Amino acid sequence: MSKKYSKIGLRAGLEIHQQLDTREKLFCSCEPKLFKGEPEFTFIRRLRPTQSELGQVDSAALFEFQKETRILYEANNESVCLVEMDEEPPHDLNREAVEICLIASLMIEAEPVDEIHVMRKTVIDGSNTTGFQRTCVVALNGEIDIKGKKVPIQQVSLEEDAARKTGKDGHLIRYRIDRLGIPLIEVTTAPVIYSPEEAEETAFAIGRILRATRRVRRGLGTIRQDVNVSIRDGALIEIKGVQELELVSKVIENEVQRQLGLLEIRNELKKRGVNKEDITEDFVDVTHVFKKTKCKVIAKALKQNKPVLAVRLSGFAGLLKKELASDMRLGSELAGLARFWGRVGGIFHSDEMPAYDITGEELNQLGLLLKKDSMDAVVFVADTLENATDALKAVTERARLALEGVPEETRAANPDGTTKYMRPRPGAARMYPETDVPPIQVTKQYINQLDNRLPELPEQLMKRLMTAYKLNRKLAKQILDSEYLELFECLAKEKKVSPTVIAVALTETLKALKRDGIKVEAVTDEQFREMFRLIGAGKTAKESIPEVLSWLASNEEATVRDALEGLGLSMMSRKELEELVDDVIEKNSEFIELRGKGAFGPLMGIIMKKARGRVKVQLVSGILKKRLEDTIT
Ligand SMILES: [Zn+2]
Repeated sequence: MSKKYSKIGLRAGLEIHQQLDTREKLFCSCEPKLFKGEPEFTFIRRLRPTQSELGQVDSAALFEFQKETRILYEANNESVCLVEMDEEPPHDLNREAVEICLIASLMIEAEPVDEIHVMRKTVIDGSNTTGFQRTCVVALNGEIDIKGKKVPIQQVSLEEDAARKTGKDGHLIRYRIDRLGIPLIEVTTAPVIYSPEEAEETAFAIGRILRATRRVRRGLGTIRQDVNVSIRDGALIEIKGVQELELVSKVIENEVQRQLGLLEIRNELKKRGVNKEDITEDFVDVTHVFKKTKCKVIAKALKQNKPVLAVRLSGFAGLLKKELASDMRLGSELAGLARFWGRVGGIFHSDEMPAYDITGEELNQLGLLLKKDSMDAVVFVADTLENATDALKAVTERARLALEGVPEETRAANPDGTTKYMRPRPGAARMYPETDVPPIQVTKQYINQLDNRLPELPEQLMKRLMTAYKLNRKLAKQILDSEYLELFECLAKEKKVSPTVIAVALTETLKALKRDGIKVEAVTDEQFREMFRLIGAGKTAKESIPEVLSWLASNEEATVRDALEGLGLSMMSRKELEELVDDVIEKNSEFIELRGKGAFGPLMGIIMKKARGRVKVQLVSGILKKRLEDTIT
């Protein structure tokens, strides 16, 4: 495996972002909490074009794009104040967040800086109301051991989280700013990771250290990985927002395949003798071809008086549908760019035809109008003249870049491990000092203090989980790698239920439910606690855990008692159980006569099927054994 990757010159680096569990946000006193439902207020801002204070200017096209874009910010009072709205300067840096970062830094043997300076990092997508993200380096030059290899940690930073995007409609983008300002630790490795497996192991190792601080948040979106990937002859691609550690290797594998696929396309285009000059911005209005179309998307656009514009991509026939990596094609790359630059919903292209109820006759006419020959592809789009033009400009520009190979860009990770075009890669120099926040001195004395009371390292923690709670190695490791370590210890200390039962529920059971698409993150600590209390008190059996958890996941704010009632999983009384046993014995009297004591196993099976989750197995077997003996003698 890794041999294959060294041959193609894979290099990867990781940036792990993890939300810290602080009482307040990084630069204000708001509660770091996301809200659901409708926002209490909204406000609109224009996107600030990125002419940073150092005079760095991005491409002219990007500048124009940003000038046009407006952002609708959604907020509520509990999680947003004037700081997030950029109506008031930031308050001092949150000391609690600084401390957690320093602790994590010391745990990976990084050297804390003498003075923490807050910097501004230009943000081009509107995810920060200020147009920049505040960030500060806390420590440098750490390392982490991955199976005997020392992976250098270049730096540990403390950052404010960005707003979360909730939608896009033409020139208007929606963001929810409750997340803005939540403290994040960012751990950056050197780009010396040479295989997808190694990347995943590194991500897990860093995640373990961060959780070992016991002061990080848990749940979907609280940890996010950015991955930088390059291969020889390819390009450096930045992939943002991998939400699960388990996806890191898949994302990298896919990116390697994508780059290799793009290089193959480049070679094929060369073989076909395609030149940059062959790909021109000759956009043709082909609206009349679709006057009577059955294609719903186009028909809808025509009804709104939007035109259909088309462009010929000389020599691209068959290449748009070529699969680069699982479910990623050049066609979808073009669509991604068209969406970003042209604000369109998507594009049509000849490689995917016939489809979408577009007829052969319509395609013929389209081909004639565009002078398409058998080696050409055609891309067309139905939208306003402005959007369609911008979209096709992006498509032709991207098609030209296909002749060079892999264009540098920033991509976004999808939940299935594929990626999509996100935006161009920002220029290099994009940091400048934040003058509103004074620097913080980090004294030797303070560092010594922290160093003397560092939390257990993952290896120590693992050992303790095995000795203190009698977990086997596998379970201990799973708890260590789960987000529920903290909760596990709390629950295990309550001594209501055996630690192994709790550990299985918090790892294997949750994983299985997640695989079935159940949103287990919704289950709160309080609900877990109540569930184990009720099991401990004999109100329900441990076998009911999966059902109770999946019920709670879809019934927020409900109690575990509600779940037991809703599911009919309250414990059976001894009387009810005895009646059930008698009933089963009566219905199977012939079988019992035939098999004698050998009937025990099958009858147990029948009873447990009816009573699982509502009885203790030992109790059933005791009653059944007794009743069977009575019947047989
Ligand atoms: Zn605030």
